[in-house]
Amino acid sequence: MQWETVIGLEIHAQLATRSKIFSASSTQFGAEVNSQANAVDLGMPGVLPVLNIEAVHMAIKFALATNAEIGKRSVFARKNYFYPDLPKGYQISQMALPIVGQGTVEVTLDDGVVKTVGLTRAHLEEDAGKSVHDLFHGQTGVDLNRAGTPLLEIVSEPDMRSAREAVAYARKIHSIVRYIDICDGNMQEGSFRCDANVSVRPVGTETLGTRAEIKNVNSFRFLERAINFEVERQIDVLESGGTVVQETRLYDADNDETRSMRSKEEANDYRYFPDPDLLPVVVEDSLIEELSQSMPELPEARCGRFVSEFQLSEYDAGVLTADRATADYFESVLATSGASAKLVSSWIGGELFSRLNKDGLELPESPVTADRFSGLMSRIHDNTISGKIAKQILDHMWGSDADVDAIIDREGLRQISDSSEIEKMIDDVIEANPSQLAEYRQGKEKLLAYFVGQVMKASRGKANPGQLNEMLREKLKG
Ligand code: ADP
Ligand code: MG
Repeated sequence: MQWETVIGLEIHAQLATRSKIFSASSTQFGAEVNSQANAVDLGMPGVLPVLNIEAVHMAIKFALATNAEIGKRSVFARKNYFYPDLPKGYQISQMALPIVGQGTVEVTLDDGVVKTVGLTRAHLEEDAGKSVHDLFHGQTGVDLNRAGTPLLEIVSEPDMRSAREAVAYARKIHSIVRYIDICDGNMQEGSFRCDANVSVRPVGTETLGTRAEIKNVNSFRFLERAINFEVERQIDVLESGGTVVQETRLYDADNDETRSMRSKEEANDYRYFPDPDLLPVVVEDSLIEELSQSMPELPEARCGRFVSEFQLSEYDAGVLTADRATADYFESVLATSGASAKLVSSWIGGELFSRLNKDGLELPESPVTADRFSGLMSRIHDNTISGKIAKQILDHMWGSDADVDAIIDREGLRQISDSSEIEKMIDDVIEANPSQLAEYRQGKEKLLAYFVGQVMKASRGKANPGQLNEMLREKLKG
């Protein structure tokens, strides 16, 4: 039997408002526990929630970025359940009438194929607090700073067919929310959380299999692993004659497995009903118009422009525009360095990214800012340094605040483009290698590389490679 994987994702994006969705408390991450929860967040008797209009604007921007329907009249509902981190006994969410309806996103897969994934809906809701298990020995504390933080829950259609597709989709949503500046996307801090609904079915059948929902996945890498583990588990269950039960499972990154958390039988009946404390949200066309005017250039448009304006390949343009910070960095370096788009693109995608990866850093945390990187590109462009030396200089820049020119002077790395100086080095190398010279002249042209290497070494890597090659060929001819 061949199995087909089916995945739908629910993504919670924390909206980057300064205050909470229904109160004036700050949403700042990392404050002292319980210092940012007021009477409204706690649901004290007699208090009334007041909707933060910024959260509404952000949800509409998301709809505009995903070609989604905008709910002209959406309604907040109470989702009732008991948990220590939810003192008022219900979460304010949206159920029957969400602010964002059906939409689509285009996802570019590893092989370059573009897949359209359907969005079912996206709704506004408040986050709950947090249970803290590691602060007191043998006891659990409750931190309500997060209670009332605005979330946009983005629900996809079950359109993904592999863990990689699911990750590509999640990355795309991550990229969109950051482009339009509605979420900081920080997965470690929980600002962007993915729950994966996973099922399998025999290839060629239509009916969806029973799904498990995996929670607690806090990186794209773990998302891929958790789904792959879950698919294998479900296939094993089915092939050994069992049935998959609908349940919520937790991903355990340490053991790379998913474990049952609660089954459908124990699932809550949330008794949703419209929240009587909040009016329906009515979105006027004029507001939609105003927000569309304020929308930034989105990833696809920017990618297309990078191809047409800078003659970059589709692939390179895709890498540079995958997130806004990278695209901004690239455009800033390009505008100030005078270097070609191709040079800047290959240096960002190659040397810069590999150093960031090695240190586990995101571009905004790069020790080398766009300004300093631009200086480095200028010096390659005007032939002050070779690409090889530039790599050494980038290493120096990584560990200090010094700019490129200071490092070139300090380390004596200026490229040698004085032809008499290069000629002298070539002559010395040829003289020291008579047998290689003879072989070369008998037709062993491969030895050119050997001579280039020797002269480069003599120049301590500083000879202008173009000049060196050209002059050396002439000299070797005799
Ligand atoms: P709930 O609200 O109980 O989590 P929904 O029906 O809203 O359930 O579905 C939530 C997510 O699960 C959606 O992203 C949807 O695409 C996905 N989904 C639903 N059924 C399946 C299935 N059989 N296999 C995989 N994903 C599914
Ligand atoms: Mg769900």
